Amino acid sequence: MSRPTARAIAAAVNAGGSTRPAVETALAACAGDQLNAVIRVHRERALTTADRVDARVRAGERLPLAGVPIAVKDNLCVEGLPATCCSRMLEGYVAPYTATAVARLEAAGAVIVAQTNMDEFAFGSSNETSCYGPVKNPVDPTRIPGGSSGGSAAVVAAGYVPVSLGSDTGGSIRQPASLCGCLGIKPTYGRVSRYGLIAFGSSLDQIGPFATDAADAALVLQTMAGLDPLDGTSAPHAVEALPGGDALRGLRVGFVPGHAEGLQPAVRAALDATKARLQAAGAVLVPIELPHERYAVATYYVIGTGEASSNLSRMDGIRFGHRAEGADLRAIYAASRAQGFGTEAKRRIMLGTYVLSAGYYDAYYKKAQQVRRLICRDYETAFAACDVILGPTSPTTAFKLGEKLSDPLQMYLSDIFTIASNLAGTPSLSLPAGRDEQGLPIGMQLQGPMFSDARLLAVAQALA
Ligand code: GLN
Repeated sequence: MSRPTARAIAAAVNAGGSTRPAVETALAACAGDQLNAVIRVHRERALTTADRVDARVRAGERLPLAGVPIAVKDNLCVEGLPATCCSRMLEGYVAPYTATAVARLEAAGAVIVAQTNMDEFAFGSSNETSCYGPVKNPVDPTRIPGGSSGGSAAVVAAGYVPVSLGSDTGGSIRQPASLCGCLGIKPTYGRVSRYGLIAFGSSLDQIGPFATDAADAALVLQTMAGLDPLDGTSAPHAVEALPGGDALRGLRVGFVPGHAEGLQPAVRAALDATKARLQAAGAVLVPIELPHERYAVATYYVIGTGEASSNLSRMDGIRFGHRAEGADLRAIYAASRAQGFGTEAKRRIMLGTYVLSAGYYDAYYKKAQQVRRLICRDYETAFAACDVILGPTSPTTAFKLGEKLSDPLQMYLSDIFTIASNLAGTPSLSLPAGRDEQGLPIGMQLQGPMFSDARLLAVAQALA
C-alpha cells in the first residue's frame, strides 16, 4: 500500500519521466480487482490520454496532475463512456459530454483508468444496491466498504489508484472513506460544479476526492473547484493552498458531547484519542451543541427523496437507457421503470413522490425545509465558538455484507453523523483514525464553516 502519492507521480512526470509506469500499474491493479470495486477499466483510452500528457510535458507544460491515474464513480459523465449509476435503468447509456470536475482533472494531466461501483443512483450506505453486485471491503472481504461511493473508496484504500472521485449527498464520500481507511472530503456545497454528475438530490450533492493523504485530496480539490457557468449553484471561490505552519496550536475544536454515546467502544476510544492528540498539540476543545442535529436523518429522507423522485422522473424508458415493451406510452413508462429500478430506488421514488404530493407537501417537505434552516443556524452558532467540529464519521466500523440489507431504517442510521453537513452545505471530511480490535478502519469527521475546506484539510494533515 505504500504506492506513490499523486503529488509524487506528477512531480516525476513533470521532471521528464514517462506517464507509463504509474498508469500501467493502476490499469493492472484495476484489471485484477477482486473486490468488485471496478466495473469498467479503460485501457485504450487511458494510454491515449497518457501519451497526450507526455507530449504536453515534453512541449514544456507543467501539469499539476501530470500522469496521475484516477478512477471515477459511475454517476460522473465522461464523454463516450457508459454512465449507469450502477442501475439497470441506465443500461447502455453512453455519456454525451464530460462532467466539469472530470474535465478539469483531465486538463490538468490526470488519466482516467477506470469507473467504480456504487449503490444504485447513490442510494445506500453499503454498496449493496448496485446492479453489479456489492463491493467488498479491502480490509475484510466479508464486510461492506460503505456507500454509496464504495468502489471509489475501495480502489484508493486497496492502492489501485492514488486518488478517485465520489459524490456525497448524505455521507457517500465520508462514510466509505471511514470504513475503508482512506481520506474523503465532501466539499462546501457549490465548491465543485455538479455539471455532468447524474443528480440525486440537487441541493445536497457534491463531488469530492478520495486520497491517501490530505495534500493529495487538496491537490485534486484545488484543480476541480471553482465557478462553472454550466452549474448555477457553483461558487467562484478558489480553494486556498494548505496553510503552512502549525494548524493545531490555538485551534478551537468543537465537539458535541452526545456524539460519544452509543458508539462502538473502539470508535469511542479513537475519538477520545484524537481529542487528546489535539489538546497535546495546543488545540482548545470546546463543547458545543447542535440541537437540531437529531432531526437530520428524518429531514434528509424527506428532502433527499423528494429531490430524487423529481430528478429520477427523467428516467422514463424513452430518453435514457432501459426500455421495456408496452402497448402505449404509459405502459412503456411503467414497465421500463418497474424493470429498470431496484428496490431501494423504488422506495426512494415512492417516498419522495409522497412527500411532494398535494396535501402532504406542507406537512413533510415544507416542514423539512424549515428544520433544515434550523440545522444551518445551529452551525452558524457553533462556528462562532469553534473553528472546526470533531466527531466520529460512523458509529461503527464496517459491518458484514447483508447485515442491514433487510432493515432500511438501520441502514439509514449509518449516516447519522454525516447528513447534517449536506443539509447545511458546509464542508466536512473523514480522516483515518486507527483501527478496531479486528483491524477494521475507524474514521473521524471534521466539519467546518462554509468554504473552510482548506482549513479542514490542513487539520487532517496535521493529525496524520
Ligand atoms: N447513505 C445515504 C443515502 O442512502 C447517503 C447517500 C449519498 O450520499 N449519496 O441516501
